[in-house]
Parts: sequence; structure tokens; C-alpha cells
Amino acid sequence: MSKVYLDNAATTRMHDEVIDVMVKGMKINFGNPSSTHFFGRESKAAIENVRKVIARLTGVSSAEIIFTSCGTEANNLILRSCVEYLNVKRIITTRIEHSCVQETVNSLEENQHIRIDYVRINEKGEIDLTHLEELLQNSDEKTLVSIMHGNNEIANLNPIIEIGNLAREHQALFHSDMVQTLGHYEINLEELPLDFASSSAHKYHGPKGVGFAYIKKSTALKAQITGGGQERNLRSGTENLHGILGMGKAFEMAIDHLEDKTSYVSNLKAYAISKLSEAVPNIRFNGLSENPEKSLFAVLSISLPFKDDLIGFELELRGIAVSQGSACQSGAVQKSRVLTEIYPQEFINSTTPLRISFSKYNSEKDIDTLVTALSEIAQKHSK
Ligand code: PLP
Repeated sequence: MSKVYLDNAATTRMHDEVIDVMVKGMKINFGNPSSTHFFGRESKAAIENVRKVIARLTGVSSAEIIFTSCGTEANNLILRSCVEYLNVKRIITTRIEHSCVQETVNSLEENQHIRIDYVRINEKGEIDLTHLEELLQNSDEKTLVSIMHGNNEIANLNPIIEIGNLAREHQALFHSDMVQTLGHYEINLEELPLDFASSSAHKYHGPKGVGFAYIKKSTALKAQITGGGQERNLRSGTENLHGILGMGKAFEMAIDHLEDKTSYVSNLKAYAISKLSEAVPNIRFNGLSENPEKSLFAVLSISLPFKDDLIGFELELRGIAVSQGSACQSGAVQKSRVLTEIYPQEFINSTTPLRISFSKYNSEKDIDTLVTALSEIAQKHSK
């Protein structure tokens, strides 16, 4: 049975070219980048070269790119350090952020007594900018706005320029979790009204366990992980050199082939929307994920009009991998926090959500396989 992978928002298959760069680096660059001898200096130069590439491709200076172990760490570094070192007393965010932001603000509220305010969102998951402005007007405390760019579950693209401009008007800092958009869109970080952003290599065909934080120089943030002072004293620990090399190659490849990839993958998504609409009566596309202008081009979130707790298993038997709600650490499927936030309980209890996410390695044939399976399952439920 051939297998179909349609869970690219969870992680992507690495490009062969990325693996080649990493393997070469493992053979050649084994020196500790902090060592002052020749081997160390070569490793250090390899890291700095990737920093330059990423800085150039995102329009910022090299000093503003800090390598981390993942997107989760980048978000933790930014949120926690803003509280610890920049005197932030209040965070304005949404209830549909990735759990690494949600859980971190929960912890800051509980342990550091930071005030957390949630911006209202509507039933499509859209942010109420008027409410954001009201919240920003209502405080003299040092405030950080933390709102993601692309939502990993319902695919909404948030208006980060408007959000950042509002934050600036009210002297608030602005952080955006850009894990689903950096490496997928051409983004000039310098031109955005933004102080901090996060990225993760495994979302754009790079290796797992490596990412970066964008930290605007003027913000003077400090480290959460202390020790040897690596990463300009912002993140100690011997660098994941080979991961960083892979991330550099993956980022370059993502940007080099961006237009072709975007149009190929967007067409796959449009094809999936049209085929699913025909094959599954009353299917619902969640959030803005059906809207090509306002959603991630590689992510489609659907709700099937019946409850089927075994759907993951049924699709697995047919060799199809998609995402159901959010998988917790144990691998068990939990109800989607994001969908529960925007939809009434009766809808959640009577439907089955799935997230389908595409990459350049997918074809229309993969979508046909999924649509046939979902059509058969839907027919079984209509009897
Ligand atoms: N933020 C978003 C929006 C994500 O989709 C993810 C990963 O699913 C993360 C953060 C966490 O990234 P990482 O897996 O690199 O920790």
C-alpha cells in the first residue's frame, strides 16, 4: 500500500539537498564552534554564514537572528525574557495561539503575576482589531502583544501589519509566532512593525530540533538559557551546528523556489477544496482556511458533518496521514482547543475535524486518495 502524507503543517520531509549539506557538515565541521583553534573557527564561520544568509533573506542584520532548538524555545525565550528583562507587566494575546505561547503566558500569569488579556475573535477566528485597540488604550503598564502570523490549526493569516501598527501607536512591543509563515512566504522582518518573531526549520523541509528567534537589536533582550554565552549571549549551549547548516540550506531553497512552490501548493489546496465539496455533502471549511487570500496556502482545516472518533484509524488503514485536532505528547488525540474556542459545543460534538496540509511533495493523486476515503466514510455515516 502506498502511503500518503498530508500532515505538512506538523512537519515536512527534509529535502535531499538539506540532508547532503548536513552530512557534509558532520564529516567536515566537527570542531566546537567556541574553540579558538582552526577546527573551531571553521565551525563558527559555518554558523555565521547561515546567520548571514537568513538575515539577508529576511531583511534584518545578522545580530538580530538567534539560533534556538526549535520554535517553542524561540517563543519561550522572547515571552519570558520580555517579562524578566524588559519590565513587561501585561501580555495581550489570543486564545488560539499555539500551545507553546498559550502555556507560556499561563505560566507567566501564574508565577510572575503578569496580566494576560485576550483579544476577542469571531466565529471564523478573525481578530477584533477594535477590541485590540481598546485593550491597548486601557493601560499604562508596559505591554507586549503576542499574536501569531499564520494559525497552525485553522490556517488564518492574521493582519500583522495592522496589529503591529496598533502596538506601536500605543508604545507596546509586538511578538509574532511566525513558525507557519517564515520559509513559506517572502517576509521582510525589518519592514514589519515587529520586535520579535520565531521560526522552525522542520516546517520548511529542514531538520527538526533547530529554529531561530528574530530579536530586534534595540530591544536589548537577555538570555533564558545561561552558560557559555553563545549566540551573542542570548542563548548559551554548544550550537546545533549541523541542524543550523540544514536550516540555512532549507531556508535558501524555500525562498529560491518560492513562487513556483506557492502556486503549485495553492493549486493543490484549491483542488482539494473543490473535490471535497463535491464528495462530502455539508463539509465545513474551518476558520478562513477556504479563503485563498486570508489563509495559509498549504493548510486546509475541515469539519466532517458526523462524529467519528475512529477516523484516524480508518484513514491509517488506507495509508493516509492527516492531523486530527491536536496530538498531545502521549500521541492521544485531544479535542481541538482552537475549534472549541470559535465554535459552539453542539457543533464540536457532532462533527469530526481534520487538518490537511500540503507540500511540493504531494500530488493531485494524494488528494484523490484522501477524497475517496472520506467520501466512503461519509456514505457509511449517512446510512
Ligand atoms: N508555533 C506554531 C504556530 C507551530 O505550528 C509550531 C509547531 O507545530 C510551533 C510553534 C512549535 O515549533 P517547534 O515544533 O519547532 O517547537
